[in-house]
Amino acid sequence: MTTSARGSGGRMTDDWLERVRAASDLVEIVGQTVPLKRVGRNWVGLCPFHAERTASFSVSAERQLYHCFSCKAGGDVFKFVQETEKIEFLEAVEWLSRRAGIGVPERRGERSSLKGAIGEALELAATSYEQWLRDPVGGARVRAALAARGLRDETVRQFRLGLAPEGWTPLVDRLRPRISEETLIQAGLALRREGGEARGVYDRFRQRLMIPLIAPGGAVVGFGARALGDENPKYLNSPETPVYHKSSFLFGLEQARRALTADGELIVVEGYFDVITLHQAGIVQVVATSGTALTADHAHAFRRLVPRVALTFDGDRAGREATMRSIGILLAEGLEMRVVDLPPGEDPDTLVRSSGVEGWNERRAAAYDAVEFVHRHVQGAALNAGAARADALERAIQAIVGLAAGLADPIRGKLMLQRSAEVLGVGEAVLARAISLRRRGQDIETPVRAAVREHQGVEEGLERLLLRGLIQALQTLNEVRQRLSPEDFRDHTCRALALWLWAGNPGLPKNGPEADLARELAVGGSDQMDWAAEVRGATVRMVERRLKQQLKECKHRLNETSGAAETERLMQEIQTIARSLRELST
Ligand SMILES: [Zn+2]
Repeated sequence: MTTSARGSGGRMTDDWLERVRAASDLVEIVGQTVPLKRVGRNWVGLCPFHAERTASFSVSAERQLYHCFSCKAGGDVFKFVQETEKIEFLEAVEWLSRRAGIGVPERRGERSSLKGAIGEALELAATSYEQWLRDPVGGARVRAALAARGLRDETVRQFRLGLAPEGWTPLVDRLRPRISEETLIQAGLALRREGGEARGVYDRFRQRLMIPLIAPGGAVVGFGARALGDENPKYLNSPETPVYHKSSFLFGLEQARRALTADGELIVVEGYFDVITLHQAGIVQVVATSGTALTADHAHAFRRLVPRVALTFDGDRAGREATMRSIGILLAEGLEMRVVDLPPGEDPDTLVRSSGVEGWNERRAAAYDAVEFVHRHVQGAALNAGAARADALERAIQAIVGLAAGLADPIRGKLMLQRSAEVLGVGEAVLARAISLRRRGQDIETPVRAAVREHQGVEEGLERLLLRGLIQALQTLNEVRQRLSPEDFRDHTCRALALWLWAGNPGLPKNGPEADLARELAVGGSDQMDWAAEVRGATVRMVERRLKQQLKECKHRLNETSGAAETERLMQEIQTIARSLRELST
């Protein structure tokens, strides 16, 4: 730790560091976060880094070190401040330095450096945009629009929203006395006019709502600029600069970081206003990427902050593919993840504005894990698009194998296999084999196909038996219709035939794959069989299959939810399903 400190710009003298250390008592600093009790030579309390009921967190006043015997968190006073304040080492030293009343050495060589100058330009720009938004005349229309959107003044101030006014050079004109044209360009605030240096520079952002991109610690590193009307593009972001890297920047982290806990969750949304609206609604542990899809750098940053990430999904096709990529990135980083399914066409911003924080909480409680997401949105979407059941399942397995092959942790891999076997109904062994083939870079099409065929055999066997019985003993249809619906058929063709039969059509279907299936079942029947009895037996097994699937889903939800009302509801549902299952077997 001290090695990296010495590397940062030469101002980090050991002298200053040791003065800050000597002036900062770890017991006192920890004591502000965690109530501590003296036990022998040490102080003990509940660990702030994991949820626990018996104290396993211990602080040594003598050695100025802390250690958790349960989660193994530990370190010195700088580490403690870094972890609890979610800041970098240097910031932690400055934080403690200010706290102890020790002067923070001037960032010499940094203030005059390019980054320092760019930072100053960005901060002055943010302040200017804020003032323009507050202007009684010039900012009135935009302030009214923000208020109409439900944004409170306090939120506007907290996120430092601003206004870039009309005209080509208001910002340039305002900053020019203090900031050089070259710096304005490097900060991404200005562009050079065509025709070279003699022609000067003009503002990059004009007539837009300005959303500063603020790094943890409070420094403005760039801007997102939203169109005030229907102009394109709707959002204009700062270009990459020495201080703004879109592949690692997280919007909202500055506002979220203090609320993050070591057993907590970070919600990742798409838009700046999703962050702002959720934040205002009291859900503060939320961030958005900025002008890019989720990257491994982002995931790496999450890993340092929380164990769990919740993504949102708005139901469109492009979103589905992006979500699959994001899931892969998060799982590969060793994070737990959930996908919050939004109503079609909604984003967190519109959802919270229309149905409040309850609307969001309801969706969050029903979030999917990776395997369920694949089940619902990869397999489900393929089925809805008319793919055969086997093809849809194959696509789902391919997706799962892709995700599982990227997992570094064998225990998580094992859990994912179990969950996939449960949700998709395919054998763990087959999946495991496909994953190890994929890891070795070999073709997995053949083993996956084989697994799908085997799976199909069992599923189709039952469904075909029932349909065959119905065709042979049509008088049983009314009774079956009361217990099963066409949706209970998993095979695409079987479901199509069931739909046709359930609709009460006379005879057999004439067109489509269901016609071929109906013919095959009709001619294959033997009249030696008691078909009515076969139908009754197959119906019971189909109902049982549906109930077991529902039970599995409820139990899984129960493990996920923390809401009391939701828990109560699920417990009741589980009881109802269990009762139905018992009645079925008597
Ligand atoms: Zn701990």
